[in-house]
Amino acid sequence: MNTASPTPLGLKKSFGFGDRLGLATPGHLAAARKFDFAPIFAQQSIREMERTQRTPQDVIQAATTALRNLGYTNAWGADADHLKLPEHVERTAAAGFCFFTIDPSEYVGKGALTPELEAAYLGRKFEIPGLGMLQFDRGTLQGAAVKYGRSLEHCGFMGTHIAKVMGKRPFEIEVSVDETEDPTSALEHLFIGLELRRHKVPNVVSIAPRFVGDFEKGIDYKGDLKKFEASLRDHVAIAKHCGPYKISVHSGSDKFTAYPIIGRVCGELLHVKTAGTSYLEALRVVARTSTPLFNEIVEFCRGRFATDRHSYHISTTEAQVRSLPKFSGPKEEAVFLDEVPGRQLLHVTFGSVLTNPTLKPKILEALQRHASLHEELLDRHLTKHLSLLTKG
Ligand SMILES: [Zn+2]
Repeated sequence: MNTASPTPLGLKKSFGFGDRLGLATPGHLAAARKFDFAPIFAQQSIREMERTQRTPQDVIQAATTALRNLGYTNAWGADADHLKLPEHVERTAAAGFCFFTIDPSEYVGKGALTPELEAAYLGRKFEIPGLGMLQFDRGTLQGAAVKYGRSLEHCGFMGTHIAKVMGKRPFEIEVSVDETEDPTSALEHLFIGLELRRHKVPNVVSIAPRFVGDFEKGIDYKGDLKKFEASLRDHVAIAKHCGPYKISVHSGSDKFTAYPIIGRVCGELLHVKTAGTSYLEALRVVARTSTPLFNEIVEFCRGRFATDRHSYHISTTEAQVRSLPKFSGPKEEAVFLDEVPGRQLLHVTFGSVLTNPTLKPKILEALQRHASLHEELLDRHLTKHLSLLTKG
């Protein structure tokens, strides 16, 4: 098998190890080796690449080089995450990405109920094993069509474009609607799954719904776990019926109380994406090895928080961030790296830190100097993720 380049992973359950700094693969691989998840070692959205000033080539190269040096010989994937435009496909495909996550969120809420949709759905009954019978009335069809109809047309367009760009190279596709305001209902998911087929989106291996409850960045699940489990069961039943395809869990970092449920309910039909959690482990290396640098990062982030928090789904407030103490040494590690306000402060500001011309090189240098600690912390933390996912 050619291990130098990433390959599609198909319907095998999988885990995305996002690496924003390009130095995390050794720690990620150490964790991945202990479990039977197909690993995605290169995973970055266009937005994240902009926020870290990395190119698609940089992202693939970092993973490829590390895996070669570590003698890794099994399959691994590369996820070009949250692609919104056709040019994003070209740029990431040219670098070697082969898993394309289509993000049609620009078009959410902009659809309409058309005679074509009425003909396709009204009066039809859908028997979903494990869930029961679903059908659309005019109201629910109109709701789904307005919310997702135009988005799914865009997925059709992007899917055709991906197939054309990839030509004879194998590829796979995910569709993500995780960033909507309201949760994706069972009926809406059915509409999405059926429309992807009707628009002939090729090689769909996963769909990322917006789940019930809150998937805030870098912290545990917030919400009613019973409701979450019930709706996840419905999503899996629909994924089996319309695909089969996997259920993709975005913002998967640190959703520890939900993980056993996710692992148990999804079984093999599961993909989980993480990224922020590994960045925070990199900062933990700094907290343990350089008090002045970590303090410099904290104060810089505090100044950026009001601005940077806007594009993220988090509950930490400016007042909470102001009341965090100064970082005076490793005894305060937990305040910034284990408790919610500190984690979210450091999480949402990663783009500002990683485009700062003095901070970024200092962080990279610290990680290179303490490579074994970095690997150990990542291994420990991602092992916790993967073991909870297999515990259910
Ligand atoms: Zn997402």
